[in-house]
Amino acid sequence: MKKSIALPPLALAAALCAAEPSARIPARGLVLDAPDTSFRVADFTRDPVGPKDVLIEILYSGICHSDIHAALNDGGGDPAKTFPIVPGHEIVGRVTQVGAEVASFKVGDIAGVGCFVDSCGACDQCGLGREQFCRNRDPQPNRLRDGRNFRGGYSNRVVVPERNAIHIPAGADLKRVPPLLCAGVTVWSPIHASKVKKGDKVGVAGFGGLGHMAVKYLVALGAEVTVFDVTDAKRDDALRLGAKRYVNVRGPNPWAGMEDSFDFILSTIPADYRVGDYLRLVRYDGGEMAVVGLPPGLTIGLGELMSAPHRRLYGSIVGGIREHQACMDWSLAHGVLPETVVIPATPEAVAKAYQDVIDGKVRFRYVLDLATLPQD
Ligand SMILES: [Zn+2]
Ligand SMILES: [Zn+2]
Repeated sequence: MKKSIALPPLALAAALCAAEPSARIPARGLVLDAPDTSFRVADFTRDPVGPKDVLIEILYSGICHSDIHAALNDGGGDPAKTFPIVPGHEIVGRVTQVGAEVASFKVGDIAGVGCFVDSCGACDQCGLGREQFCRNRDPQPNRLRDGRNFRGGYSNRVVVPERNAIHIPAGADLKRVPPLLCAGVTVWSPIHASKVKKGDKVGVAGFGGLGHMAVKYLVALGAEVTVFDVTDAKRDDALRLGAKRYVNVRGPNPWAGMEDSFDFILSTIPADYRVGDYLRLVRYDGGEMAVVGLPPGLTIGLGELMSAPHRRLYGSIVGGIREHQACMDWSLAHGVLPETVVIPATPEAVAKAYQDVIDGKVRFRYVLDLATLPQD
């Protein structure tokens, strides 16, 4: 196995193409054995490339806040069942092998992989392009339908069904593309569900990986954007990305004069807050607030809802595969791309990046360069 990994990519691709169709795929990645431990570089194998699968040599992989929730086991599941893990669901790479029945990808194409790697493709939700609600999907993240853990993008190659892979046109700036596959589509979906249009008065609560993409999309659509966060340190970045106003909600009277005035507010806040504070800001009769951040343990009370009546509040979770493709195509066509910081794919760099994300210091998304994954 280690001999294969040492081969240069083209020779390896040729070797894999010539291999038995049923052979398992050697892979290497950053593995976390348990919460509160450090990542280590380890070899493992992936499922063989089936007739409808593609093998992707990973070039870049984004670090999402939910990777950190998984690494810390914030969901509170039994670590013995959920670990070891290889996080990463913002994956971009080059196709190096395709199954016999694959029609839409060929060797050499650039492909992306997001959160959904094992939707069934047969249920009503998959048929509607809502793979995130696949009736046959294990509800746990990074879990395959047969109950096994899926090893993600902090690794050198991945095998996924063709139907779960996203087409990325040649010539795209690939190191800036990975966050589109989670952060991008997660905010893209509600912005389009709420039909935000030119001139709308909109707010983005939480200005991190998701929030900065929301600002970019909303500005590109011609909306008037207000950004809310808990520090003054992000003000310049928000205005640079086109926001009209920035509000530090820890300042004096942060909500003054804004009640009942927004057409749409998108909350990406990952930590505890009062949903009603923002819901009251959207217009009575028709204003909408969408929630995509998931602070662990946060609840909303009926009193909070009733003190901001006649507004629509809804949640949204990532997006379907068609939305991933639409978001990818639109973002690249309009040059609306995430702000990324490329770092080495080493245990040390990931540990520092995680701390920066926790501390709110990242601007705005770390991306691992898998070419730097340590070799023997
Ligand atoms: Zn994510
Ligand atoms: Zn399904």
